[in-house]
Amino acid sequence: MATQQQVLKIYNSLSGKKETFAPIHQNHVGMYVCGPTVYSNVHLGNCRTFISFDLVYRYLKFLGYKVRYVRNITDAGHLENDADSGEDRIAKKARLEAIEPMEVVQRYTVDFHQTLRAFNTLPPSIEPTATGHIVEQIEIIKQIVDKGFAYEVNGSIYFDVSTFNKTHDYGKLSGRKLEDMIHNTRELEGQSDKKNPQDFALWKKAEPQHIMRWPSPWSDGFPGWHLECTAMSTKYLGDQFDIHGGGMDLKFPHHECEIAQSEAFSGQTPVNYWMHANMLTLNGQKMAKSTGNNILPNEIFSGNNEILSQAFEPAVVRFFMLQAHYRSILDFSNDALAASEKGYRKLMEALKACDSISSSDKTTNFDIDAWKQSCFDAMNDDFNSPILIAKLFDAVKFVYLIRDGKATVSEKDLKSLTACLHNFVFDVLGLESTQKSSNDQTLSGVVSMLISLRNEARDRKDFATSDRIRDELAALGIALKDGKEGTTFSI
Ligand code: AMP
Ligand code: ZN
Repeated sequence: MATQQQVLKIYNSLSGKKETFAPIHQNHVGMYVCGPTVYSNVHLGNCRTFISFDLVYRYLKFLGYKVRYVRNITDAGHLENDADSGEDRIAKKARLEAIEPMEVVQRYTVDFHQTLRAFNTLPPSIEPTATGHIVEQIEIIKQIVDKGFAYEVNGSIYFDVSTFNKTHDYGKLSGRKLEDMIHNTRELEGQSDKKNPQDFALWKKAEPQHIMRWPSPWSDGFPGWHLECTAMSTKYLGDQFDIHGGGMDLKFPHHECEIAQSEAFSGQTPVNYWMHANMLTLNGQKMAKSTGNNILPNEIFSGNNEILSQAFEPAVVRFFMLQAHYRSILDFSNDALAASEKGYRKLMEALKACDSISSSDKTTNFDIDAWKQSCFDAMNDDFNSPILIAKLFDAVKFVYLIRDGKATVSEKDLKSLTACLHNFVFDVLGLESTQKSSNDQTLSGVVSMLISLRNEARDRKDFATSDRIRDELAALGIALKDGKEGTTFSI
């Protein structure tokens, strides 16, 4: 399909407007998305952001662009409170579990990859790590210091926000003014080495107990969290590149600091289009690791969570996410997922029906070319997947009308309709039902059945049988847990 003639508009968080997309290098797109901090299992909220950018990546490729998609792994430097104090998240997990930090990194990187694969997201072109780019980060710090935008205190280097703001606009992405930030900050004097609370760390001297440390001209220490993304994005995409994405919560301070660092060291505004994906909520609150208000993808795939009435396969969860625009908040619930499952099945059935319906001399009641363009129009309008899905359902209705003898389609139009449906459903939306997920569903159904047999045995006081069910499941690696709400299991 010749698709690059399509006019794509992207909502740019920097201008607050939808802008026509024009890449720096014709036919090529450089896109950077902030990846996970690998100190715990990814929750469904994290997955929403990565699925949102998978949609962007897929559509750009579908339009014919050659896309270099860089998504990092944060394996050092991200401190507990997102600012410049507290323990390193990975080092803390390593300390609590008495394992090496790199074991933590490996465990949760594998989890991240497996989960995103289950959701049928495409791997990025480059997946660099913060620890693999310490040399580059030190080099950038040297340049920022040389240019007078950073200062050293006790072996740590801080970015001097107020000096930067004299010649640049710190706060332009998040719509903040430095004066307001100063006015609203209540950091106690003497608690930090920083000249001003708004300054942020580029390099932190490591305390003696801090295990993740590297030599530098200033101290044995570690880079600040914001710096890794500047180092890795500019290394692989250039000082100026097309798209930078991440969750809405990263706009400030993370992305604001990235802009300041880049402008300070290269003199260039690094990113042409800033894209921010909105949050997935649970009970109206942001899903987050820190508050415990989250749900893990595996709990959904197995149905093993008390808020769920059943297991849902990854493609259904992905479909649920894509039914909302990436810039809208989306609230997770069992009922919403169940509704998405119905819609998803209907779409898949219509795709199957396309293979069995017969064509006629002419097409009635449907303008295929106009419909096709309306699918593009939806995606061209800032990747509006819910509108695209509504358009796909117009085609679903038409397919059922043909099947029921209430409309006809020419051979050419049927081919075109089927191809376009396949393209948008599989290539762009990335909806694919995997064999593994149906195995998971079967397994979870079997275990649920054994749990109810065990409950019946316990009701009859047949403890020999109930214990046998529990023990034999345990021997297979399936643990039952009895709680107030009933029995749950984990594999
Ligand atoms: P983290 O590992 O905490 O750095 O987060 C990885 C990505 O997930 C970032 O882009 C976050 O913005 C995003 N994220 C975190 N929580 C949510 C949420 N509840 N909904 C959507 N995205 C989220
Ligand atoms: Zn980042």
